[in-house]
Amino acid sequence: MKAVQLVAHGTPGRFELRDVALAPPGPGEVVVRVRACGLNHLDLWLEAGALPVPISLPRTPGGEVAGDVAAVGPGTEPWRPGDRVAVQSNLFCGACEFCEQGDESLCLRGMLLGVDQDGGLAEQVIVPACALERIPTGVDYKTSAALTLAGSTALHMLTQRAQVRPGDWVLAIGAASGVGSAAIQIARQLGARVISTGSTEPKRALGLQLGAEFVVDSTLPTWTAEVRRLTAKRGVDLVVEHVGGSVLEQVFNCLARGGTVVTCGATAGREPRLNLWPFFVKQQRLVGSSGRTRADLRATLEWAAAGKLRPVIDRVLPLADAPLALAALRQRQVLGKLLLRP
Ligand SMILES: [Zn+2]
Repeated sequence: MKAVQLVAHGTPGRFELRDVALAPPGPGEVVVRVRACGLNHLDLWLEAGALPVPISLPRTPGGEVAGDVAAVGPGTEPWRPGDRVAVQSNLFCGACEFCEQGDESLCLRGMLLGVDQDGGLAEQVIVPACALERIPTGVDYKTSAALTLAGSTALHMLTQRAQVRPGDWVLAIGAASGVGSAAIQIARQLGARVISTGSTEPKRALGLQLGAEFVVDSTLPTWTAEVRRLTAKRGVDLVVEHVGGSVLEQVFNCLARGGTVVTCGATAGREPRLNLWPFFVKQQRLVGSSGRTRADLRATLEWAAAGKLRPVIDRVLPLADAPLALAALRQRQVLGKLLLRP
């Protein structure tokens, strides 16, 4: 079968579209025929060799997989060939203390699909059966592949790691990003008033279309003052942040007293500064978030089936265009999600 393999790290990295042999599925494993796979910043970190974990090459990237079951190993009931499935990208053991409590995002033996093992930029991928979730009727492969990683990340942030009350002000960073575009919609569904950010006019227009009340120009040095102005100097109750670096530092300028920043990424830097004095005086919270639980993944697909969460798809490209797609993502020339289709 064909697979895109990263053979050398770099910016850009070196990829090859190769014919590779897939081993038969072992106990507890299934083979998924990939119908669509979403790209994420995680793939860029893998490409650049910028992840804080050792990676053995060659590696097939791709964690946001939608497809159907092609073959099953022993002990994988009730899955059968032909079942339409989404794959949970944060693979989990199902047996550690956190998995037993239903919080697979904290699994002690967690692995990332497309990082720690070969992912979905291929015609087929082998995954543990416990990572599968059924795609509901009415949700197509593209919708699933555009929502199950970034969308469920946002759902985990807004419903598990932080609470949103009706009427709250929520600032969702990056209207045109996978997490940001989902966060706007989820916050609105939870009854919040939403402000978002965008670096270009099309990105800001997309934010308004998705339900943000205001979208501020993130290239202006005064953008956080603009958020304060929009909330009558009060600031927002919750910030959904996934960029890190100076963006994480700046969002505290527009966070209300008692407010929370929930963060899940560090594209712009991993060691931001935090001024502790206003932070504790205003009794604010900074909350980490990573991945999703099985319940989050199921909820994301249910929200999609109910029309409450719509994917924003920029382009669908063939596997051979993976390097091109990653370059577009790196240059931030993407509105919503990039999908690859074998
Ligand atoms: Zn576990």
